[in-house]
Amino acid sequence: MDALTTKNMMAYVADKMIASEPVLTKYDQAIGDGDHGIGMERGFKAVAELLASDYQPEDVSKLLLKIGSTMMASMGGASGAIFGTLYRSGAKAIKGATVLDTQTLSAFLTAGLEGVYERGGAKPGDKTMIDALVAAVKTSESLSGDLAEHLPAIAASAKQGVEATKEMIATTGKAKTLGERSLGHPDPGAMSMAFILEFMSEFACEQVPA
Ligand code: ADP
Ligand code: MG
Repeated sequence: MDALTTKNMMAYVADKMIASEPVLTKYDQAIGDGDHGIGMERGFKAVAELLASDYQPEDVSKLLLKIGSTMMASMGGASGAIFGTLYRSGAKAIKGATVLDTQTLSAFLTAGLEGVYERGGAKPGDKTMIDALVAAVKTSESLSGDLAEHLPAIAASAKQGVEATKEMIATTGKAKTLGERSLGHPDPGAMSMAFILEFMSEFACEQVPA
């Protein structure tokens, strides 16, 4: 997938994330402070504006770096820093990439995860977006080639990661004060992570191969 198609894919993701505000709000109301949907909506509205402008990405890395900076500048909250870091750290690891294929995406997600670890200090099992991201990284590592072929499996793994957060007790972020009362509820940030990959997958699979 070239930089222009990746830009179109991210515009699609942004629109779908904006539309996901009510469901993300609902889940953050259950275990957080209820602002996660609004935060993601704000970030992806800024991304949608950027991508609808005459901005021409030089390559895939620069595009994803710019998206991360845009999210960080517009969102605030824990997730602004966390998702902004995911994109920025991931983008820096694929410097100069002119196409996004499965290996490039895997390198992006792996480095993004490292960045999130460093930025937020949470680990797998803490009931955060990390639980969805780690699952996606693990699946992506063994795959290479066309995105349309492999993104569905990567997105499905992230979704399983979200399911797993239902059984976890939050130890970080706003949900940690709930302790065991967070049991049974999925983590909203993990849900956002899985949605992003699911929407990327939808777009990639609808693309007619060139
Ligand atoms: P806030 O916690 O500031 O209200 P949001 O509600 O927008 O921010 O985002 C909450 C989400 O951020 C959580 O569901 C979790 O997935 C994620 N999160 C919070 N802290 C961390 C962290 N240290 N590392 C990774 N993800 C985190
Ligand atoms: Mg919140």
